[in-house]
Amino acid sequence: MAASHHDKPTIVIGAGIAGIAAAIRLAVKGYKVEVFEANSYPGGKLNEFVNSGFRFDAGPSLFTMPQYVDELFRLAGKNPTDYFRYEKLDSICHYFYEDGTRLTAWADSAKLADEIALKTRDTRESVMRFLNKSRDIYDITHHVFLEKSLHRLDSYLNKQTLRSVLRFGEIDAFRTMNEANEKHFHDDKTRRFFNRYATYNGSNPYKAPATLNIIPHLEQHFGAYFPEGGMHAITDSLVKLAKDLGVRFYFNSKVEEILYERGQVTGVNVAGDVVRASYVISNMDVWFTYRKLLKGIKLPERVLKQERSSSALIFYWGIRGIFKELDLHNIFFSEDYEKEFRTIWKHKTIDEDPTVYLNISSKYCQADAPEGSENWFVMVNVPANVGQDWDRLIAEARLNIIKKLSRILKQDIGSLIVVEKVLDPREIESSTSSYQGSLYGTSSNGRFAAFLRHPNFIDSVKGLYFVGGSVHPGGGIPLALLSAKIIDDNF
Ligand code: FAD
Repeated sequence: MAASHHDKPTIVIGAGIAGIAAAIRLAVKGYKVEVFEANSYPGGKLNEFVNSGFRFDAGPSLFTMPQYVDELFRLAGKNPTDYFRYEKLDSICHYFYEDGTRLTAWADSAKLADEIALKTRDTRESVMRFLNKSRDIYDITHHVFLEKSLHRLDSYLNKQTLRSVLRFGEIDAFRTMNEANEKHFHDDKTRRFFNRYATYNGSNPYKAPATLNIIPHLEQHFGAYFPEGGMHAITDSLVKLAKDLGVRFYFNSKVEEILYERGQVTGVNVAGDVVRASYVISNMDVWFTYRKLLKGIKLPERVLKQERSSSALIFYWGIRGIFKELDLHNIFFSEDYEKEFRTIWKHKTIDEDPTVYLNISSKYCQADAPEGSENWFVMVNVPANVGQDWDRLIAEARLNIIKKLSRILKQDIGSLIVVEKVLDPREIESSTSSYQGSLYGTSSNGRFAAFLRHPNFIDSVKGLYFVGGSVHPGGGIPLALLSAKIIDDNF
């Protein structure tokens, strides 16, 4: 690091989780870091709100790979547990099928295999073989695809990467996830169970390469966790760390332009004020960074044209009553999974029988709901926002979801709702500047999606970097945190 870089600050645009992580990493290296955030609060999608005694995490609810959060505290020479604690889930998710089958996804692989063998027509051995294959895909790919820039030659010039390249045939990139899972499992319930992992990054299992079968390994091997105080504790604790390291946050401060001269970044324009900087790190969705902040730049059309990941429709419901059969994470499967995905991806609308995800943080954090009540976060996957009639779709989906949950739980759910708030793709788009309200940037529906995601830098503007779910290595908290780690190598 050149000493002169201390004079001018390094600017981070956006206090999403990747922006905060990048700020922490540079502050640790001695840079003076300033974060400009358009909203009045940090966290972006990783936000929370309280309504009539119910606390809700607004966005992400599944926490995996906590090591990437811990790493930030360690880098700063702190003890992670002084800031942030979490517990490992024994049972990761409860699955409900319309025929009455209920299946628990245990964190322990052998137990999960036994459970699937008990509840479906598939065998314990076939599940174990599947999970071993999932681990192999991870072993081959993680080093190359997740932890390095795919866009720098030196990422490829080492033994580990070359070994991975030689094993490329084993990562199952030439058929879809569903093709692989249909071949491997006999029972449609097991197929749905494993196909659903495609939705962890907003993709379609009938289009995405079977390489995404890596995801069950991430969940099984590294586990799923619940942060003490809820998901928002991730944002809170990292903001605290950043502030302890001297990072300055400016809220209600929308960056309007990234300034550059002769191929070198020079600063940003925030509400009419020019702030000079040696480095600028954009945590804004890369699609909007190009369209709104980078004037006069040549657009990387191929990258910006990539299909976006799916979005979400969420009902936050305060529910009067306690449901013993429900867990922290619950899934109520649609009957025709393929049709549901066709409806989302081809017809760009919501299926009349959607798979419903129900998260109840008060199962682990009682204070999140008043006594005798639960805070239900009810989400369905929906297409990215291309101008659908959302008000109509929301009204229809609400009825279908209540009917489905009432049918399976054998209780009239509608009459138990005492508090309600709705989040739809339009608001996800406007409140976090995510193009089309997609949750995870671009989708992974093509074989080459990993290579077509925008890099973490551009050659035409030196000193400008990109982090967050819309750029390499992709969306979701762990990968957003990894994007900050990848750019860290440049400082
Ligand atoms: P974002 O959270 O998108 O934040 C970007 C920030 O930049 C925002 O605060 C925005 O206001 C700010 N900004 C943008 N433009 C400007 C500007 N010009 N000036 C100043 N500030 C600006 N991930 C998981 O791991 N597990 C899950 O269970 C999960 N579920 C999800 C459910 C939902 C409903 C949603 C919405 C997302 C979910 N995700 C999940 C995805 C995860 O939330 C994201 O991948 C991750 O939080 C993205 O972080 P980010 O750093 O890219 O930025």
